[in-house]
Amino acid sequence: MLPEIEKLLVLQDRDQKLRAVLTEIAALPGEKAARDREFKAADDRLEAARSRQKEIEVERNKLEVEVKAKQDQISRYKNQQLETRKNEEFSALRHEIEMAEKVIIELEDRELVLMEEAESLKPSLQAAQEAHAAEKKKVETHMASLVTRKENLDARQKELEAERPSFITGIDEDLLDRYNRLFKSKNGIALVTVEHGVCAGCNMQVTHQAILEVKAEKEIVGCPQCGRILYEPQ
Ligand SMILES: [Zn+2]
Repeated sequence: MLPEIEKLLVLQDRDQKLRAVLTEIAALPGEKAARDREFKAADDRLEAARSRQKEIEVERNKLEVEVKAKQDQISRYKNQQLETRKNEEFSALRHEIEMAEKVIIELEDRELVLMEEAESLKPSLQAAQEAHAAEKKKVETHMASLVTRKENLDARQKELEAERPSFITGIDEDLLDRYNRLFKSKNGIALVTVEHGVCAGCNMQVTHQAILEVKAEKEIVGCPQCGRILYEPQ
């Protein structure tokens, strides 16, 4: 194998590792956003479970205010009964009192129904709270692992970048330039094997002439189709 090819293969292996690290780093914000959405969804589910309970509370408070108002009304009617001397007025007031008492009974019945519903909601709310706590914990663990992964990836990136100069020493400048351009434009694959006359990069048949040149191992040969640097598998 040509010594340049050997060096470039080592460099390519390193560069592919760095490329993988950078790709992973680039994907982290998306992963974090997904975790954030999970967090939000867990909150929403708990909120939905709580909303009926809140509605019931609001309605019960309203009913209690109404009951109080009716009770006050009854007290006023009773005072008026004490003050009146007219029989007609007295019975009219008694009728009003009976009506108000009937309304109070209806309001209290409605309140009872609501209390029963609130009671029946308790287990499902409890379950929703437990599920919420478990989900939050899971997401928090994921978040923490994302932070650790980011730290590890950053460290790996620095390491690979710091070591790169030592892997390019001795490689001809033009060849390195050619390699760099190929690596960038060909998805991180600048050097490929040619097997059974086919380029492993583009899967196209390579010309007979090119195959002979690769086999001769005298110069760097590019694939006539995709331009990648060809070498014979060892
Ligand atoms: Zn090719």
